[in-house]
Amino acid sequence: MPQAPRADPPIAEFPRDAEVLIVGAGASGAVAAKRLAEEGFRVVCLEQGGWVDHGDFRGGYPDGELVALKEFHPNPNVRANTWDYPVNDIDSEIRPFMYNAVGGSTILFGAQWMRLLPSDFRVRTLDGIADDWPITYEDLEPFYRQVDEDFGASGLAGNPAYPPSPEPPLPPLPIGRLGYRAAQALDRLGWHWWPGTNAIASRPYRGRRPCVQRGVCETGCAEGAKASTDLTHWPLAIAAGARLVTGARVKEITVDERGLATGAIFADLNGQDHRVRADVVLLAANGIGTPRLLLASQSARFPFGLANSSGLVGRRLMHHPYVTVRVVVDEDLGTNGAAGHALTSLQFYETDRERGFVRGAKWGFYPSGGPLAIAANHLSGSWQGDVRDHVRSRLGRSFVLSITAEDLPDESNRVELDSEQSDAAGIPAPKVTYHASENTTAVLRWNLAMARTFLAAVDAVDADVSERVANAGWHLLGTARMGDDPESSVVDRWNRAHDVPNLLIVDGSSFVTAGAVNPCATIAALSLRAVDHLNRTKRLITVPL
Ligand SMILES: Cc1cc2nc3c(=O)[nH]c(=O)nc-3n(C[C@H](O)[C@H](O)[C@H](O)COP(=O)(O)OP(=O)(O)OC[C@H]3O[C@@H](n4cnc5c(N)ncnc54)[C@H](O)[C@@H]3O)c2cc1C
Ligand code: SF4
Repeated sequence: MPQAPRADPPIAEFPRDAEVLIVGAGASGAVAAKRLAEEGFRVVCLEQGGWVDHGDFRGGYPDGELVALKEFHPNPNVRANTWDYPVNDIDSEIRPFMYNAVGGSTILFGAQWMRLLPSDFRVRTLDGIADDWPITYEDLEPFYRQVDEDFGASGLAGNPAYPPSPEPPLPPLPIGRLGYRAAQALDRLGWHWWPGTNAIASRPYRGRRPCVQRGVCETGCAEGAKASTDLTHWPLAIAAGARLVTGARVKEITVDERGLATGAIFADLNGQDHRVRADVVLLAANGIGTPRLLLASQSARFPFGLANSSGLVGRRLMHHPYVTVRVVVDEDLGTNGAAGHALTSLQFYETDRERGFVRGAKWGFYPSGGPLAIAANHLSGSWQGDVRDHVRSRLGRSFVLSITAEDLPDESNRVELDSEQSDAAGIPAPKVTYHASENTTAVLRWNLAMARTFLAAVDAVDADVSERVANAGWHLLGTARMGDDPESSVVDRWNRAHDVPNLLIVDGSSFVTAGAVNPCATIAALSLRAVDHLNRTKRLITVPL
């Protein structure tokens, strides 16, 4: 059972000023804090959650699947811890998921560790739709390499879907019987596949134990094999001098009369407000938490929220809409493997206009999950018959093919401030409006048709298709987009807010388009690139523009 965060350090001792103040200790905040502290910056990070005791993870116990339905559910509305904030998702087809703690959403993430493809940065040029990023795959590549090392990515170089890159630091996880079976079928069809790259240790790595293939990564990894940033980054950042204050919920980013950020006001666990002053502020509160905080930071100078002269803060929210096919076969595949994927296929990733839509999807293959997951799948679907027979026929004899579609930006998909709900500190909850576009729907429909071809090639004896999965809001992207033009973007190519030069947004909010792959490697690489630039242009800190 997750414990309520302690105020750590005790409030009387927390640092009142910083060179760089970071809001959020998840993936992007941890990457930034480690690098900046190692460069000698005085870093303070404010995190609303606390440290998670990995002994609380129940994946290896009989009640593991039950705990995942409440205490470790990825939906903050279901967990409803006092340090979570509620999300009004009534007008959203997809429920936003996140975890609020040191490590952020990496505590629960599946650790599928994928780079965007070069085409993802050039959608406007290639397909005449959405926008190009102001940076390229090549700009980000050195940072991808570094975060691969820091998170301990396991995989295999040479994936023909990507430009050449060096071997990841660790060899791939075993693809297992399910991977072998899926790969044989994909080979028969002549379709692309490659062993999955995962931020999961396949060998002992920097103090982490190797994966034992229990497949419960999305309820927390008790082995410490999965790269959550409370393990991979925070101990190093703190050793380098970063100060991490937990149980600190930021209410507002403060500004001066010149329009520069001056720090933040946060509420402690007793509801008492405190102020931290800073030369530079970095927002790393994810694609919902960051626009929420910007919109809540209203002042005479910024009446519509901070950094929002473009009106785009909170707009262009992108997810990765998702369908799954449970593939039932005639042999025992076991239930083990990592919930990081065994295989991926990028066969249908790029645009082919003859399909009637632009862009495409990623296919991932992973284990069947436990009996409760299979039963829930049965009960939420339209399958007939006894649930016990359903579970018996699938447990160990099935695997999951997931199809994640690229979602294009749409300004009406957005995060706003809710007029009624607020969190324990009185900060308005985010209200999320989201509907998948016709293009996204067509991507999923066409890929499902291809999945039926795959089912024949893999000699499936049965299959359960879940269309339009609502519980799929893992990836929160695009709500403070990057661009060169301040009128049509919120941050510049170095993740600095156009309107507030000493404010950086380093989480997934800055994505211009979403690609169809899992975003965490790109979020981490973008954060590292942003603070690398900050480090090289230190002048900004003492002599703001
Ligand atoms: C169940 C699940 C599975 C996933 N699987 C994958 C996967 O396999 N591969 C992949 O690439 N991605 C995956 N993701 C997504 C990935 O985890 C996120 O994209 C990534 O962690 C985002 O990093 P971030 O720094 O933007 O935000 P987060 O990691 O979400 O961190 C944000 C932090 O900010 C804190 N915060 C927010 N607001 C405030 C405030 N006002 N004051 C103080 N603190 C605040 C939060 O408490 C949180 O700790 C998954 C996510 C979930 C939930
Ligand atoms: S499968 Fe591996 S990474 Fe996932 S929870 Fe188990 S040990 Fe951790």
